[in-house]
Amino acid sequence: MNPNNNTLRQINLPTRLPKVGTTIFTVMSALANEYQAINLGQGFPDFSCDSRLLDAVNDAMRADHNQYPPMAGIAPLREGISKKIAHLYKHIYDPLTEITVTAGGTQGIFTVIACAVRPGDEVIVIEPVYDSYIPAIETVGGTAIPVQLVVERNGEGKITGYTIPWDALQKAITSHTRMIMINSPHNPTGMVWEKSDLDKLAELVRNTDILICSDEVYEHMVYDGQQHQSVARHPELANRSFLISSFGKTYHVTGWKVGYVAAPKHLMNEFRKVHQFNVFTVNTPMQYGLAKYLEDPVPYTQLSNFYQQKRDFLRKGLEATRFKLLPTPGTYFQCVDYKHLNIPETQLNEADFCQWLTKEIGVAAIPVSAFYDKTVESGVIRFCFAKQQTTLQQALERLSKL
Ligand code: GLN
Repeated sequence: MNPNNNTLRQINLPTRLPKVGTTIFTVMSALANEYQAINLGQGFPDFSCDSRLLDAVNDAMRADHNQYPPMAGIAPLREGISKKIAHLYKHIYDPLTEITVTAGGTQGIFTVIACAVRPGDEVIVIEPVYDSYIPAIETVGGTAIPVQLVVERNGEGKITGYTIPWDALQKAITSHTRMIMINSPHNPTGMVWEKSDLDKLAELVRNTDILICSDEVYEHMVYDGQQHQSVARHPELANRSFLISSFGKTYHVTGWKVGYVAAPKHLMNEFRKVHQFNVFTVNTPMQYGLAKYLEDPVPYTQLSNFYQQKRDFLRKGLEATRFKLLPTPGTYFQCVDYKHLNIPETQLNEADFCQWLTKEIGVAAIPVSAFYDKTVESGVIRFCFAKQQTTLQQALERLSKL
C-alpha cells in the first residue's frame, strides 16, 4: 500500500553545520548571472586552457583510458608530480607511497582533515580563512580555533599588508592541537609566506605532534621575483605536512576538479584509507592528459609572468579610482578597500557593498568578511583577475564611475 502524503513522516535531521549556508562564491556568481554583471567574484578564469591539454585528454579517452584508475592516481601522473616538486622545491616524494591524486584541492583538504582530526581535537586556522576549512573540521567533530592575520596599516590608516600573528598562534596551541592549517599564496589577501615564516612555524611545532595542512593551490602565482615557499622546501616541516595543490588553478581548468596531496609515507597511508572510501579514484582520462601535459615545465613556470601582467593591468586601472589597493604578492586575487570612495554606499558592510556593486555597477566581487568565522569588517573586497584583458578593461570602465 502506498502511504499518502498525509502519513509520510517528515524526518528530523539535526544539521551538522548550523552556521553554513550556500558558499559566497556560488551566491555571488548567481547574482552576477542574474544581473549580467562582470564576474570578478568567484575565482576562475574566463579564458580557455591550452589546446594541447585538451588534445592530451581527448587522446587518452580515445586510447580507451576510461576505466577505474589505481586508487592513488595513475603512475605517470604521480611520477610527474614527484618530478615537478623535486625540480622546484628539492624534496623527493615517493610517487608510489607519498602522492595521491585528488578530486581537486578541496577534496584533498577535506580528506586530510577527515584522516587526521578526531572529535575533541583542535585545528588552528588563520583568518581570513578559505571557507571550506572550518566546515570540514566541524563535520568530523573537531574544533576550529581561529587566529587572525595581523592587518598592517600606515599612518593614514591605509592597509599595507598582512602578517602572521605569531603571538596569537603560539597562545592558541594547547595539548589538544592536532593540526595547523596554512595557505600560501593566501586566498583572499594574496599574502605569501617567506622562508623566515616557515622557520618560525617549524620552531613553534618542534617537539609536538602537531601536523601541518599546507594549502598551496596558488603555488605558481607569486609575483615580483619572489619564490613560493612550499613546505616541501623545508625538510623539518615537510616531515609533518600534507601539501595540497590543484591542476585547476595551474592549468585554467577549475571545473575538472583534479589536484593532489603529498605527504610522508606514514601520513599518506592514513590519507589513502579515507580517500579510497571518499572518492575512491579520480577520473582516468584527465589524469593521462595531465600527466602528458605536465612533462613540459613551461606552462607552470611561466604562470607567474602571465598572471603578473593581469595583476598589473588591473592595478593600474584601479589606481585611477578611489579604491585603495592592497598589495598582491601572490594568487589571482586583488583586494581593495572601498571605504574612501566618495559615495554613500561606503557605509554598507562588505557583503551588502558587493551586492550593490554587482546590481548597480555591474561588477561582482567577494566580501572578505565571508572568510571569518565571526564576521570581521575591514572594508575590503576581493576581485579576481584571472580574466581576459577585455573583461578586466570593461570592469575597470564600470568601476571608474565610482
Ligand atoms: N576557490 C575559489 C575562490 O576563492 C572558489 C571555489 C568555489 O567556488 N568553491 O573564489
